[in-house]
Amino acid sequence: MAEVVLEGVGKVYSDGTRAVRDLNLSIADGEFLVLVGPSGCGKTTALRMVAGLEDISEGRLLIGDRVVNRVPARDRDVAMVFQSYALYPHLSVRDNIGFGLSLRKMPKDQIRAKVEHAARILGLTEYLDRKPRNLSGGQRQRVAMGRAIVREPQAFLMDEPLSNLDAKLRVQMRAEIARIQRDLGVTTIYVTHDQTEAMTLGDRVAVMKKGVLQQVAPPQELYDRPANLFVAGFIGSPAMNLLQARLERDGDGDGGLRLEVGGQTLPVPARVLDERPALRAYLGRDVVVGIRPEDMEDAELVGSGGDEAGGTLRSTADLVEAMGSDVLVHFAVEAAQVVTEDTKELARDAGTDVLGALDAPRTDLVARFSPRTRV
Ligand code: ATP
Repeated sequence: MAEVVLEGVGKVYSDGTRAVRDLNLSIADGEFLVLVGPSGCGKTTALRMVAGLEDISEGRLLIGDRVVNRVPARDRDVAMVFQSYALYPHLSVRDNIGFGLSLRKMPKDQIRAKVEHAARILGLTEYLDRKPRNLSGGQRQRVAMGRAIVREPQAFLMDEPLSNLDAKLRVQMRAEIARIQRDLGVTTIYVTHDQTEAMTLGDRVAVMKKGVLQQVAPPQELYDRPANLFVAGFIGSPAMNLLQARLERDGDGDGGLRLEVGGQTLPVPARVLDERPALRAYLGRDVVVGIRPEDMEDAELVGSGGDEAGGTLRSTADLVEAMGSDVLVHFAVEAAQVVTEDTKELARDAGTDVLGALDAPRTDLVARFSPRTRV
């Protein structure tokens, strides 16, 4: 096991495409780091550079104190798990898992012991003599993991390993990967475009956009303190609501601030101002206010004469989506479409009222702002 360090790593492909720019990341021994970002952001390129499958154009890559820029893939002592599993169809599960060890001429009884140990960890013992075509997608995925495990590498590198599985299996395998990584304590870099996978698996998550690292932080910090608008919008499902607003001084002279959102006014909660005094620098300027759907608490449907006290946004519910445990209520505030999450209890009311009212004069929605509102 080892630390993996990227220092100013960049990649320019031969056609001039700059896929990764000045990437600085330090993955601690035993850490699970997830690289996440939209398609084309450079995450696979970054991982392939660590694996040695792609040349590094700029910067230095260290695996356990050793600069490995020029070390070939097979000598880097890392194991890659691909999206496609890359299994040999004509070999049994046993031979697939042990393949890398046979190549290295490890004695047969040692290979047998290692393969059987990995199979136990992965729940594959009863499938060792089957061919990959006779396995389910999840079992094939496990065989690919097994091949990485038996090598006892310094690091696991995983490129979207769950993307070929159906939704239910993905959740199961996600938990399994987390467990195995924790048990083995192997430094892991995991690439995905799925922010839920990133948030549930990573000790830390690195968010990339257009080849540039945007933020690297533990999942909760990323969620609570996104470094910029891109991270704010990318992390979280349903996504954070982002509203254009203007920050003004509150009229009552106590130093408070308010946000003008379209024609409506929202006081900035005192706690937000205490935590982020730098906000005052934006006084009189256009800002974007970010509100997590679940922070729009106590959303309630009221009649047209409803409560319009400070700290509420008034709008009209466009759509109510019942998701079982949660209900998403969509409504428009100026140009922005806003989503709020609600409890099952409310869902029943909202579902009835709003759906019934869609073609008729529509019901108003008041979303109260909780103190967790972020600006
Ligand atoms: P995805 O999730 O779609 O796999 P990604 O974030 O992993 O995307 P990369 O595959 O690393 O992104 O690609 C980053 C950029 O580099 C993209 O613009 C891509 O088109 C480009 N790219 C990838 N491979 C090559 C190549 N061999 N030659 C030229 N450009 C490439």
